[in-house]
Amino acid sequence: MKTSRRQANLQQVRQLHLFNNVATSSVDQALKEFRICDLEPGEILLSPFNHNQHLYLLLKGQLKVYLGSLDNPPISTLHAGDCAGEISFIDNHPPSAYVVATEPSSMLRLHREALIKLFQQSPQLMHNLLELLCTRLRQGNLLILNSEQNANVDTLTGSFNRRWLEHMYERESTRCAFNQQPLSLLMLDVDHFKAYNDQHGHLAGDYALCLVAHTLRNQLRAKDSLVRFGGEEFVILLPEIAAPEARSIGERLRHSLENVTSFYSSVGLLPGVTVSIGLAQMDPKDSLQSLIARADGALYKAKQQGRNCLC
Ligand code: GH3
Ligand code: MG
Ligand code: MG
Repeated sequence: MKTSRRQANLQQVRQLHLFNNVATSSVDQALKEFRICDLEPGEILLSPFNHNQHLYLLLKGQLKVYLGSLDNPPISTLHAGDCAGEISFIDNHPPSAYVVATEPSSMLRLHREALIKLFQQSPQLMHNLLELLCTRLRQGNLLILNSEQNANVDTLTGSFNRRWLEHMYERESTRCAFNQQPLSLLMLDVDHFKAYNDQHGHLAGDYALCLVAHTLRNQLRAKDSLVRFGGEEFVILLPEIAAPEARSIGERLRHSLENVTSFYSSVGLLPGVTVSIGLAQMDPKDSLQSLIARADGALYKAKQQGRNCLC
């Protein structure tokens, strides 16, 4: 990073969000304290391994922010007017992220002690910094939410995954037992899917799995969970549903797939697939494992009975 002796001008400082509505006398004071720094593309401004004593205000160029490792996708991009280093600058701990220039960038650099003096002169400056920290906090919360959602969803079919099933079973089995209501589980397995892949290709197989997930999901209630349990196996959790009703739901789902004899995909027209289904209703003593084991046993029977049926 090159630090220059150039002085920042009023116009440059006025475009920074941190100085919105700050009195000119305080801006003038800040101007004396600022240093201008230049970064080349690829240069690291902040990293968790370097203590940071400065607040950086981007005048020109672009910076990207990475969490954990520079190999991860960036979590945000900073443009002219934005700030970097404000968290480590305030709490005096090492930065939590890497900040890297992706274009030739110029920024203003202010030492923490100089800014603390400025805060005493300008409550507006403090207010602006708090606003900025709130934005960072909201961005962080959104990131947590997205990664939580991604951690529960199968990327191919958009169905939930086993992690979600464990969480949902815990919740729904307790709720149904407490309300003395039943809970049923369907285990579905695509028939002769190895042959389908062999005949039409793995990509076609992937489309068929998406078709299955889409067809099933469209017929379920919001409180039911469709889970991709493994390769071509799906589990459906049906709260408040006893075995006889679960059987007719399962039969309806099985029929709806049987009725799709062909479908369009980006690899052309493909034949549909059928599924075999095992059904089990929860007993009071059931764990998820024991309930799944019974549904799996029933599925095995359905396969033995010739497939495309429900046991
Ligand atoms: P059965 O009727 O007895 O269930 O026979 P099957 O061929 O469906 O069962 P098998 O367990 O022998 O084969 C399952 C196949 O599913 C093999 C595997 O390659 C395929 N498979 C698993 N996951 C995926 C996936 O994500 N995409 C694709 N295209 N195929 C998958
Ligand atoms: Mg299988
Ligand atoms: Mg199968």
